[in-house]
Amino acid sequence: MRQAIERKRDGESLRAQEWHAAIEGYLSGAIDEAQMAALCMACVWRGMSLDEAHALTEAMVESGERLHFDIGAPVIDKHSSGGVSDVVSLVAVPVAAAAGAHVAKLSGRALGHTGGTIDKLETIPGFNAALSSDAFVRQVARVGCAIAAQTQRLVPADKRLYALRDRTGTVPAMGLIAASMVSKKVAGGADAFVFDVKTGRAAFMRDEARAGELARMLVDISARFDRRATAFVTDMDQPLGQSIGTGLEILEARQLLQPQHAAQSSRAMQLVLAIVDAMLEAAEIDDGERRAREALRSGAAYEKFVEMLCAQGASREGFEAMQAGSPRETLRAPHEGYVRSIDVVRLGNVGRELSAREPFGGLRIRARIGDRVERGAPLLEIYGPDLASGHGLDSAIELTADPVPAPPLIHAKIAPSPNSRPRSR
Ligand code: URA
Repeated sequence: MRQAIERKRDGESLRAQEWHAAIEGYLSGAIDEAQMAALCMACVWRGMSLDEAHALTEAMVESGERLHFDIGAPVIDKHSSGGVSDVVSLVAVPVAAAAGAHVAKLSGRALGHTGGTIDKLETIPGFNAALSSDAFVRQVARVGCAIAAQTQRLVPADKRLYALRDRTGTVPAMGLIAASMVSKKVAGGADAFVFDVKTGRAAFMRDEARAGELARMLVDISARFDRRATAFVTDMDQPLGQSIGTGLEILEARQLLQPQHAAQSSRAMQLVLAIVDAMLEAAEIDDGERRAREALRSGAAYEKFVEMLCAQGASREGFEAMQAGSPRETLRAPHEGYVRSIDVVRLGNVGRELSAREPFGGLRIRARIGDRVERGAPLLEIYGPDLASGHGLDSAIELTADPVPAPPLIHAKIAPSPNSRPRSR
């Protein structure tokens, strides 16, 4: 292993067998944490070719069990590279299922300043994210959708490697992120994937061009596994929705799913519609955006979400009774101006800390980049426990006298190659 680390450090590409040996050795204990951390750091510095990232993905998929669906229709999965107030999965999964797709969504927990869909769902009384593989597969066939946590048996290599990367500053390496994301989707058994790669100050790939390269890599690696994938590059210079915190984000998703909100055009809803459209296209269902809007307007998407929650142990009454208290404090604009920037990493960290202490603790943001605000206008509401001083929220939203353009939401969409189809069964 030492020689492989040295060669990677010096800029060489490793062969497929070496990636397989690295993962097998790491899981068996023959390769220790220090060596694996050094290899990851060499990948951060030197990058990884598509062949290397593919070989690593393959080794990671082979480290655990693989799910299989046999329901006579394409099964779709969706994955985000990690964001703040990213409520898309909570809304897009039931909307796509209500519009006719089968969605098998394996989700993760919070990481760094970014939120985790499983942590959010677990604030719903009774909700069980720990489905066995059989229960997950059966639910997707019966209900049309399921959102479950990755089990211990699915890509165990990613679980260990991810924790190591989190501790050693080696998360933002394109090949490592691609292998981590695609391996989970391939092992999860879906036929086609939709990826949402974030870019901007709170993204793991801050630079837009690099985020675009990651998106392309995700699509290309998926194709090597005979999976059709679409990847979006989307903004993470500001929170996507309004709420930051586990319970608060469930309340926001509930609101977005209600028929009376179907016509709204918030940034979160715009992204939901674009992603559902891609999910339906992958499921070979035409006219995706219209169907998505209809599923929202008719209440079918809301009902599908409730059906999914009930199938996973929650109840309609428990879900509908969820509510947050009043804000503990509201931070207001000290003078009039335009919102120039939002320290979204800080908001993500504080929101995570607050909701770890109380399920409805967190933040609600009342202004977006580019908005004009009057002196005294609410910028940020704080919910839940008292914050220790030094949280820095007072300076998290910066105002300026000059108009500021609102940043674009969707920077790019990398489509699958024209003749690729969902995996043949
Ligand atoms: N999300 C993942 O699943 N893996 C990464 O490495 C980064 C984001």
